[in-house]
Amino acid sequence: MAKVAFIGLGVMGYPMAGHLKTKGGHDVTVYNRTAAKAEKWASEHGGKAAPTPKAAAEGCDFVFCCVGNDDDLRQVTIGPDGAFHGVKAGAVFIDNTTASAIVARELHAKAKEAGFGFLDAPVSGGQAGAENGALTVMVGGDAADYEKAEPVIQAYAKMVGHMGDAGAGQLTKMVNQIAIAGLVQGLSEAVHFGKKSGLDIAKVIEVISKGAAQSWQMENRWETMNAGKFDFGFAVDWMRKDLMICLEEARQNKANLPVTALVDQFYSEVQKMGGNRWDTSSLIARLER
Ligand code: NAP
Repeated sequence: MAKVAFIGLGVMGYPMAGHLKTKGGHDVTVYNRTAAKAEKWASEHGGKAAPTPKAAAEGCDFVFCCVGNDDDLRQVTIGPDGAFHGVKAGAVFIDNTTASAIVARELHAKAKEAGFGFLDAPVSGGQAGAENGALTVMVGGDAADYEKAEPVIQAYAKMVGHMGDAGAGQLTKMVNQIAIAGLVQGLSEAVHFGKKSGLDIAKVIEVISKGAAQSWQMENRWETMNAGKFDFGFAVDWMRKDLMICLEEARQNKANLPVTALVDQFYSEVQKMGGNRWDTSSLIARLER
């Protein structure tokens, strides 16, 4: 049993912190900007709620974090009362936020200076993956820190991989999001075309999902796409944040991402349709306006 802190009890962080307590059996202290959520978590799980990220981190062996974007991450780590002011030497800070590789490397260097470890460890698997403790975790950072943290991370994971030095976890998550962007647009066009053709979409999917067109998106999203239902899942606003990170990184490493850039523009149209919080499968909605 380790002494663990968790900062950021959103859709993802709330159940992840829960698994660290119930499945991992760790002594968990939580912090959330909106304090009521931390109080609720503590009363549900029997852990403690701290008033600041710094207070949560003090004395812990592992400090986890899952907030929104680069700015939020800087705020809860190196901002006033940030966790980095409380992490003890020899501890490991594990960041599950989807952020840039730049901020990962920056915080890794600051942590090293202060004598503790930093791992960028973004996740894939969505709300359901977090609730079921079945996330894929892509980790960047020093091997020794990874060895220490991996058994603890297992509490909310079905797959954990050490991808390389600081930033490599975030770069792997970018690969993941690039792969999803084009695929969801392709699936949207396929379902849209099928409907226009007058085919029975359920029958079409039943047959083609056993062939080469099969994907997680097809299995899990065709039905809601067909029904025009998008009030759940991974929000378009979050996806655009992730794609912006990918496109900025591509400007640095000179990768060509024409489809990703186009799909990002399509998502901006979905936002203009009022779809900021719709699931990413709502790309089909702009084809059917
Ligand atoms: P969310 O439900 O919006 O939760 C965000 C959390 O971060 C909340 O606890 C929020 O506190 C906190 N926060 C945000 N800005 C903050 C700041 N400046 N200072 C302190 N706390 C701050 O988001 P989520 O869906 O859990 O996503 C979290 C991260 O995981 C994002 O990077 C997202 O891209 C990534 N992710 C999400 C999914 C998904 O399916 N949702 C899947 C994979 C990865 P309050 O409660 O006070 O607002």
